[in-house]
Amino acid sequence: PSPVSERRLLEIRLMPYGDRQLLLIARDKTRIHQLESMRKDFVANVSHELKTPLTVLQGYLEIMISMEEADSINQKPLSMMQQQTSRMQSMVEQLLALSRIEAGTTVDLSKVVDMSSMFSQLKVEANALSMGDYDVTFDCDVTVSPHGDELQLRSACSNLISNAIRYTSPGGKIVIKWQLVNSGAEFSVTDTGVGIAPQHIYRLTERFYRVDNARSSKTGGSGLGLAIVKHALGHHHSQLLVTSELGKGSRFSFIIPNHLLARKE
Ligand code: ADP
Repeated sequence: PSPVSERRLLEIRLMPYGDRQLLLIARDKTRIHQLESMRKDFVANVSHELKTPLTVLQGYLEIMISMEEADSINQKPLSMMQQQTSRMQSMVEQLLALSRIEAGTTVDLSKVVDMSSMFSQLKVEANALSMGDYDVTFDCDVTVSPHGDELQLRSACSNLISNAIRYTSPGGKIVIKWQLVNSGAEFSVTDTGVGIAPQHIYRLTERFYRVDNARSSKTGGSGLGLAIVKHALGHHHSQLLVTSELGKGSRFSFIIPNHLLARKE
């Protein structure tokens, strides 16, 4: 029983039942929906509140490090503290990014994202991350661009590229492509990295899911990157596709469907 004024969320399904009958299933999802939105608000607020103290800590640590003599015994613990605070800072940034993407139920799909300028920015980022230790190649069909939210699409692409670099040993090869395929245009990142065993693939986009925690935390990630990618792609009528072979490498891709593409002749 609930007050009449309270809005309720009902899920109603009609399913075939035997040859000539239908089964109607009604589920009250109000409580689940309320809890889910409380969880989202809580995460968004906590991440926001953590930003300021972390920036202050980071600032003081920098000052202390610069004041210490280079050979002082304090240098090592101080720089470890600095590394860990900057890791926390990037996790908080990712949590905020995920909250923002989850909260935006609709995305303005009228704007066209300029893929050639986005690719130039992705190249700069990839070069900075790979520091010349990887063979990174880009191949972009500039005659086709997606409609959608530039920040969300860039964040999806850049998460896939940074993962490819982080989960590949130096000397490996990474190929980034944007090309026309039958059902639309495909963005793909192929690496020659550690690869992923089949039983993990369907869980990769869960928040905080990491295949090998010890290894993944060394790479400095937060376990939120692919959750962000999933939500960003969902807003663009697309989904993440993963093929991988353990020890050989992975291919992460998504297809922006034809109805969301703008073509230049
Ligand atoms: P993280 O911040 O841990 O990288 P993600 O959500 O981006 O979090 O990725 C989830 C997990 O998926 C990673 O911890 C890693 O185990 C696996 N993963 C993602 N990309 C790759 C890749 N290119 N090669 C191998 N494993 C990957």
